[in-house]
Amino acid sequence: KMSSRIQNITAGGSDGWAVYYRARAMKAAGQPVIQLTMGEHDIGTDRAILDAMHRSATGGNTGYALVVGNDDLRAAVAERIESRTGVPTGPENIVILPGGQAGLFAAHHAACDPGDTALFIDPYYATYPGTIRAVGAVPRAIKVSADNGFQPQRRDLEEAAEGASSLLINSPNNPTGAVYDADTMDGISAVCQHHDLWLISDEVYDTQVWEGTHISPRALPGMAKRTLIVNSLSKSHAMTGSRIGWICGPADVVHAIHNLATHNTYGVAGFVQDAAVFALSQGTAAEEAVAAPFRRRRQIVLDALAGQNAVRAAPISGAMYAMLDIRATGMDGESFANALLDAELIGVMPGESFGQGGAGHIRVAMTVDDDRLADAVRRIAAFAATRV
Ligand code: PLP
Repeated sequence: KMSSRIQNITAGGSDGWAVYYRARAMKAAGQPVIQLTMGEHDIGTDRAILDAMHRSATGGNTGYALVVGNDDLRAAVAERIESRTGVPTGPENIVILPGGQAGLFAAHHAACDPGDTALFIDPYYATYPGTIRAVGAVPRAIKVSADNGFQPQRRDLEEAAEGASSLLINSPNNPTGAVYDADTMDGISAVCQHHDLWLISDEVYDTQVWEGTHISPRALPGMAKRTLIVNSLSKSHAMTGSRIGWICGPADVVHAIHNLATHNTYGVAGFVQDAAVFALSQGTAAEEAVAAPFRRRRQIVLDALAGQNAVRAAPISGAMYAMLDIRATGMDGESFANALLDAELIGVMPGESFGQGGAGHIRVAMTVDDDRLADAVRRIAAFAATRV
């Protein structure tokens, strides 16, 4: 029989994903469905990055790469993190992994023994509880509320932290769009130190901040030694398919994760690493160019919803999603998303597909062009108004 550990891993989402699959099937059958479900940029990887990848591969860099990652890439990542956090960071603090998801898995492996409790914030990115179960740990959700701007509250963290091994946070947040403010980060830091928790900080949206400032916990006093940053070039450089990311943490943990990678992923393609070095060498201007459409579309969503009562946008402080509050319609996210798909041919994710904290909301991925997005959001608002 299969191990209980693997049988316990769910596919990722909950029943809420049924709306996504239905929208996909309708579109495949030729219906003009506007898909606002998935978190993937509508542009591809920049041509110059692909050229660097091609040059590297055709230049012969097609063999095994160093499992820990190439020196130049680790140095480039370390420099990026040091410049953002002010904390001395060297290649010894960096292990290269095939994407942020692989980083989440490896970080929990490093932080949790089988049976340990791993905390995460609900609403959450779909893979979180399954990733925790996949390493044999036990997920424990800490619910955040739209009424607090989806910021984790210190007393809730304190209450949940008893006996736990790790806390996973994600700011800027998918699905809520929250960027954790200084108070929230202070609370998180205090609770992690008080309860001796590892803090796993998923920062894949750190280049997409529209309001406030992204604070990496590595920069907070006493936190560098207990923080594992997980990041990737998926969102910052539209490189989702290249599978390239990293963990930054204390050198001994990074070394241990390198040992894990030796028995698991066995490194990342050398030509992808070379492309990543090139991508990072372009600096923040390239990251801003990739983020710019979302900054624009966020404003489009806010403008389209101004003065609307049936549907309201939660603060869209970061990332590529708008979490819309549809509680005034009296519908739950799932019935709303299903009815919207039937009536308007617009696919959105029910808030509940990201956990109970998402109830009464829908998530709109701002991943279609500006005009279609404006049209879709106006139609969502008009549809909601008919349901109040
Ligand atoms: N973390 C969050 C919050 C995400 O939204 C995603 C992808 O959507 C990931 C991690 C995984 O990204 P990667 O492509 O780097 O594995």
